[in-house]
Amino acid sequence: MGKIIAIFNQKGGVGKTTTNVNLSACLASLGEKILVIDIDPQGNTTSGFGINKEEISFSIYDVLINGLNIKEAIIDTKLENLFIVPSKTELAGAEIELTDRENRELKLKESLIDIINEFDFVFIDCPPSLGLLTINALVAANSVVIPIQCEYYALEGVSQLMNTIKLVKNSLNPELDIEGVVLSMFDGRTNLSIQVVDEVKKYFRGKVYTSIIPRNVRLAEAPSHGLSIIEYDPKSKGAEAYMELAREFLDYMED
Ligand code: ADP
Ligand code: MG
Repeated sequence: MGKIIAIFNQKGGVGKTTTNVNLSACLASLGEKILVIDIDPQGNTTSGFGINKEEISFSIYDVLINGLNIKEAIIDTKLENLFIVPSKTELAGAEIELTDRENRELKLKESLIDIINEFDFVFIDCPPSLGLLTINALVAANSVVIPIQCEYYALEGVSQLMNTIKLVKNSLNPELDIEGVVLSMFDGRTNLSIQVVDEVKKYFRGKVYTSIIPRNVRLAEAPSHGLSIIEYDPKSKGAEAYMELAREFLDYMED
């Protein structure tokens, strides 16, 4: 049975989408069958895979709001083993449109029931908020991967993040687990980055991946070409780091 993982941190710009695109691409290249769900109205994961949002027939919006079977919304990416349910800007409205629906927190979970066995992993890219879209992701997920940016205030907002996880655990999804914490945008030249790593490791005891993602300009460039880092520059430090993260991620699965 496939595992559903939400890439979650309500802070924007911490590396959620970069981690979603590149961890998924690396896992797919290692032979895992991956479905990526872009539940962020900004649709950066969708465009990050080179998908033109204007050319999409169906998006996650149709699944959540119009009850479309999710199978109809899955599209192929250029990468083998990697599929995506794209996002469109209309998804921004879903946050409000869902409010008065019955089982509004369960829409994503319910949509995945029929297809979960077809994949090894489903990754959900969350928006930078704690609204109903994020709650749908946390309710559907078995676990969360939390990207944290190695900068001043890295732990700011983390207690709110942990509270949200606790809240969802205590109500709609008791099994929700922390899969792991990814330290991103690490700059080895600064003491600050090194301090942040220590702090985060102390806070999340044993949950922090050893593979740390460096600040790497190739990672920032790749999305504008609609490519994952292993397609754009497979020899870059960024590609090496995400590949290592993918292997470590799989190692934990076998334990
Ligand atoms: P989020 O999805 O949490 O908002 P993103 O993954 O979109 O964060 O990252 C925010 C910005 O930082 C993007 O422009 C992205 O290209 C860039 N970025 C992310 N990770 C790295 C990295 N390791 N090195 C350099 N730039 C990065
Ligand atoms: Mg994002």
